[in-house]
Amino acid sequence: MGFEQIVGQNLLVRALERSLRSGEVSHAYLFAGPQGSGKKTLAFLFAQALNCPGENPPCGECLSCRKTRSGNHPNVFYVKPQGSSIKIEQLRELKEKLFYLPTEGFKKICIIDDADTLTLPAGNSILKILEEPPEDLVFLLLSSRPQALLQTILSRCIHFYLRPLADQEMAALLESKKPLPPAERELLISLAGGNPGRALQMLTQGSRQEKLEEACELLRRMECSSEAELFSLAEELTRRDDLQEIIAVFVLIFRQRLHCRINGVPEDVLLEMFKPLNKIDSSCAGASEAKTLTKKSSLLRLEKTCRALLHLQNELLGNVNRRLALEVFLLTMRGVV
Ligand SMILES: [Zn+2]
Repeated sequence: MGFEQIVGQNLLVRALERSLRSGEVSHAYLFAGPQGSGKKTLAFLFAQALNCPGENPPCGECLSCRKTRSGNHPNVFYVKPQGSSIKIEQLRELKEKLFYLPTEGFKKICIIDDADTLTLPAGNSILKILEEPPEDLVFLLLSSRPQALLQTILSRCIHFYLRPLADQEMAALLESKKPLPPAERELLISLAGGNPGRALQMLTQGSRQEKLEEACELLRRMECSSEAELFSLAEELTRRDDLQEIIAVFVLIFRQRLHCRINGVPEDVLLEMFKPLNKIDSSCAGASEAKTLTKKSSLLRLEKTCRALLHLQNELLGNVNRRLALEVFLLTMRGVV
């Protein structure tokens, strides 16, 4: 298996293949992107390709490729944080190997995972190597926070950013791993936010159904609580690590509701697709206001809520007061503002 297993990063892969073909390989590359975007997979494939004698590297099958993949290649080094950082002690022995170990015709490749956790002395040590690198040494730095790396290191790297995947690319990736019912696939794509690692993790852990049920329970409370209780709910939501994922489910649910309303499709269809939503109606039976919101909400109110949700999603990506943003959303959803 070669670069074809990297989905949705065609430009990046083509650039790497070009440099492999021309033999113009830099001493340092930065692969940047969020956790789960595929940086490590890409780095190990590139490391295989750099030492693969095949015509179309990496072949994935030669001894060098197999050793690199299994972490047993004597010239490929992988460094990751010990505890919360990569320390100078971790690099001392490595440095000796990088300078004095015979290459046996192979490139020496040093993959540094979470490179933004290099302590200052460790970073400076890397910098010293990069200033006068041994001829056959290639550094592959991986980072989800490249801005935290020393500027002097960054300036010596060729930068590659792994972009989030489009919905169709995610759908194709999921389809290749495990066919899912359309509604479930759409839910997973929404939850993963273009991140293939996160999608595959949820696919194997089956945590998406739990997330959906949790989101539906929160929605029930959002629609049934008194206005005063909304403020403590906003505070509770603020503290959640998975707030973006929960909001992604809300977007999906409200988009489906809007779709049903506009196309005159009975919401029962929606309830069938998202079974946990049934609970909303049954447990809200006593709250007439809430019932209006779930079953009989006006098109205008639904549209307004959808817009507010998308606005909230954008705001949460920036440096915003999360609690305030959530309070405004909840009040908008309930028609208070
Ligand atoms: Zn090979």
